[in-house]
Amino acid sequence: MSAPRRLDGKVLADVLRAETAAGVAALQAQGHAPPCLAAVLVGDNAASQVYVRNKVRACREVGIIPVEHRLPANTSQAELLSLVRLLDADPSVDGILVQMPLPPAIDRRAVLEGIDPAKDVDGFSPVNVGRLWSGEKGFVPCTPLGVMELLDRSGIPVEGAEAVILGRSEIVGKPMAALLLRRHATVTVAHSRTRDLAQVSARADILVAAVGKPAFVTAEFIKPGATVIDVGINTVTNEAQARAFFPHDPARVETVRTKGSTLVGDVHPAGVLERAGAYTPVPGGVGPLTVALLLRNTLAAARARRGAHRPAETRP
Ligand code: NDP
Repeated sequence: MSAPRRLDGKVLADVLRAETAAGVAALQAQGHAPPCLAAVLVGDNAASQVYVRNKVRACREVGIIPVEHRLPANTSQAELLSLVRLLDADPSVDGILVQMPLPPAIDRRAVLEGIDPAKDVDGFSPVNVGRLWSGEKGFVPCTPLGVMELLDRSGIPVEGAEAVILGRSEIVGKPMAALLLRRHATVTVAHSRTRDLAQVSARADILVAAVGKPAFVTAEFIKPGATVIDVGINTVTNEAQARAFFPHDPARVETVRTKGSTLVGDVHPAGVLERAGAYTPVPGGVGPLTVALLLRNTLAAARARRGAHRPAETRP
């Protein structure tokens, strides 16, 4: 079989950011204020700090105004909810992002319920989840939205395809299922209790892996010629493990030796090269699309709130 096609999420993310920057400029040319995204970070989780920093920088690059709210780890649920209510009521704020995970004392659901659905650019509030499943317009979670964008712009047919999603989280698996179903794929959602997982996966024309386990999806999970979308982001620090994951790529093993770690997805890199028709690499596949879609959702929120445009671009 010939080498599978590599679906480059980094290149697409650059295109999407350029489109959003042009949209922001057009909004301002119509005499409107630029979009504003409020990013709320509670506590000092190192990964969350990096994510928020990246989102803030990405906002600036496309002309969206970021406003950061950093709260201490001992913030109470009531305090966080009162900030969310202030942001809901603030006419200068278009989008609200509360970085997850929250400290254990705070109920994530209560916070998501508190966000005005018109400003919920992550698409996690119950109103937007309901809208997604009932086919109404609303904000869609950015990672699965990025996957749809990648499939569409790569010309991968979705209608009538067998799609299998590994993972049923609220942020990836479930909204991914809703989006693929809406586009007339035949969708199976598999999870930790699914029997014969490899056999179920091997039915897929489109296989989406979102389990959070390094190189979990091996060759026998993949139907020859399938499109394999790897949402997983896992850190590998063990050199022997890196050698097993990247037998074709000694540079990756070298990275672990010299820098201490590298990234691997939920799909085994050797397995995907052996069987797939198209695949997303890690890094540089789905990862960069999430922030690009957050920016696009924020522009859509701003347009809708200014009556400048219907937020059609929040949906593929
Ligand atoms: P969660 O931990 O919330 O969900 C994992 C899902 O995988 C669960 O539904 C779980 O099943 C299922 N699962 C776990 N183990 C197995 C198994 N052995 N067999 C079958 N199913 C299994 O993860 P997320 O959805 O948040 O994230 C998944 C991955 O995607 C992670 O690597 C994460 O880092 C990455 N990610 C990447 C993003 C990006 O921007 N590219 C954004 C978000 C996540 P069950 O429900 O039965 O427990």
